[in-house]
Amino acid sequence: MQVTKKEQDLQKRDERYVWHAMRGSAPAVGNIIAQKAEGAWITDIDGNKYLDGLSGLWCVNTGYGRKELAEAAYEQLLEMPYFPLAQSHIPAIKLAEKLNEWLGGDYVIFFSNSGSEANETAFKIVRQYHQQKGDHSRYKFISRYRAYHGNSMGALSATGQAERKYKYEPLAPGFIHVNPPDMYRRPDDEQTLESAEEVDRVMTWELSQTVAAMIMEPIITGGGCLIPPQNYMKKVKEICEKHGALLICDEVICGFGRTGKPFGFMHYDVKPDIITMAKGITSAYLPLSATAVKREIYEAYCGNDQYDRLRHVNTFGGNPAACALALKNLEIYENEKLIERSQQLGERMLKELEELKSLPFVGDIRGKGLLIGIELVEDKQTKKPAKAELINKVIGLCKEKKLIIGKNGDTVAGYNNILQLAPPLSITEEDFTFIVQTLKECLSSI
Ligand code: PLP
Repeated sequence: MQVTKKEQDLQKRDERYVWHAMRGSAPAVGNIIAQKAEGAWITDIDGNKYLDGLSGLWCVNTGYGRKELAEAAYEQLLEMPYFPLAQSHIPAIKLAEKLNEWLGGDYVIFFSNSGSEANETAFKIVRQYHQQKGDHSRYKFISRYRAYHGNSMGALSATGQAERKYKYEPLAPGFIHVNPPDMYRRPDDEQTLESAEEVDRVMTWELSQTVAAMIMEPIITGGGCLIPPQNYMKKVKEICEKHGALLICDEVICGFGRTGKPFGFMHYDVKPDIITMAKGITSAYLPLSATAVKREIYEAYCGNDQYDRLRHVNTFGGNPAACALALKNLEIYENEKLIERSQQLGERMLKELEELKSLPFVGDIRGKGLLIGIELVEDKQTKKPAKAELINKVIGLCKEKKLIIGKNGDTVAGYNNILQLAPPLSITEEDFTFIVQTLKECLSSI
């Protein structure tokens, strides 16, 4: 690869000073140093353009280059850049109200900056809630293998990806994992019953009165795009209720239209007790996350004792500029009907990609909205997951053709075999065709 002088310089400085996410001291050549972006396209420092088929990290849902988002933040920064949310400010009030509209329920919103923080906040709210109700023994959280819930100690403890946890242990106690449904490997009805029954069994074995909540993504995203059977989440909610546990729904990726509905849980006819969200709320233009809590849970915090209060503060959480930008971002989803677009383009993309299933190493292609996973296998009979080399080869070929796609790589022991596709919901028809054609060319060439 030809490296320009300009690039060499930045590559060197990058290697010297920047500690990259999930990467060791891998060779810097070949890593993109991005400079600008527009729509779904990133331009690197050499002027190469790439279609960002993963929207950054499943987050730039409304696409790059939205001037109105920059302006919303700019205006708010001039008006008032900061005020702590121990008191209040107008953008936070408006955004909390608007999120209620999107959630279709009665939720009180606590703002933070990242998905991990939104989940940490949820864990603390849940534990204290049970305490306030006099249920002092409930502290355990049930979560699922293969799911990711964040990088902080609690959120990582809930995460079911051993390869991310290895070398950071011991993590927080009280986090217990169950199996998620894997519809590619097991048929629908069996799966629903079996996977949901496992939640029931584990809650019983752990003693119901010690279980505080279950946390789940409606669809496991980074862990392999695992679409559950249609009635699985509803069953899990019923089981939580039976055991007196709350249901936390992690919408950090699934939220804001990624799956073709405002929130992922809306596919499954359930109302979670707590909903955490980040990424698509601002389309990652600024950091912001939220923990939406059912009013009746919040009301347990309204007693007169000084320890009835939620003793949790987040300095930057709910920054006024981030909230103002998020409001404008929600307007874009609505005005451009991006949620419906995600649903329609997702369906079309699955149809277009269907023919790739005839390749000997493409085991499954699945998705909801513009959240799509392509599972590569060594053997279609046994469904044995393909090795990392194959995934990396496909990703490399796509990159040569200027398409960035993702993988659930190096995180889920034994199952690092799923290509991830999640372009901005605002992609054009041309972008759509480019993604489909490039994927077909690259996969067929192997
Ligand atoms: N939950 C899910 C489902 C995620 O995918 C992520 C991040 O990718 C997180 C939580 C953590 O979010 P953050 O990286 O903003 O802390």
